Amino acid sequence: MSEHDAGFKAALEEAKKGASEGGVPIGACLVDKHGKILGRGHNMRVQNSSATLHAEISALETAGRLPASAYEGATMYTTLSPCDMCTGACILYKVSRVVMGENNTFVGGDAYLKQRGVEVVNLKNAECEKLMRDFIEQHPEDWYEDIGEPGKKH
Ligand SMILES: [Zn+2]
Repeated sequence: MSEHDAGFKAALEEAKKGASEGGVPIGACLVDKHGKILGRGHNMRVQNSSATLHAEISALETAGRLPASAYEGATMYTTLSPCDMCTGACILYKVSRVVMGENNTFVGGDAYLKQRGVEVVNLKNAECEKLMRDFIEQHPEDWYEDIGEPGKKH
């Protein structure tokens, strides 16, 4: 698992697309066990005024309805540690591995994923981290809303 994986590159592209749209800059890409991209997407909360369209959910949505076998051995690439909702979706569909860009700006369900037998890889990618740091600095209210927190005063 590395930054050169097609799945990670797609996730990072999606994050940048989200940033260019003024949205939360998080991207994700679901790749099957053969390396085929099943779906990709980015966080659309701001753009769609959506309560649930985090990047990982967008990627699952783009992949569409699939039989359980499609997720066997699959990897969810995401530019940021997945929140509780996205962690739950990965566990529900038994995605085998979660590869994240970073977890310095936010720690989601990393420990729970591991506890549930999902392989977790953190690529510690500086570009992903910078996208998040810039966004949190510029739009703190959008970020805290995204993770269901009332917000913090800086
Ligand atoms: Zn999420």
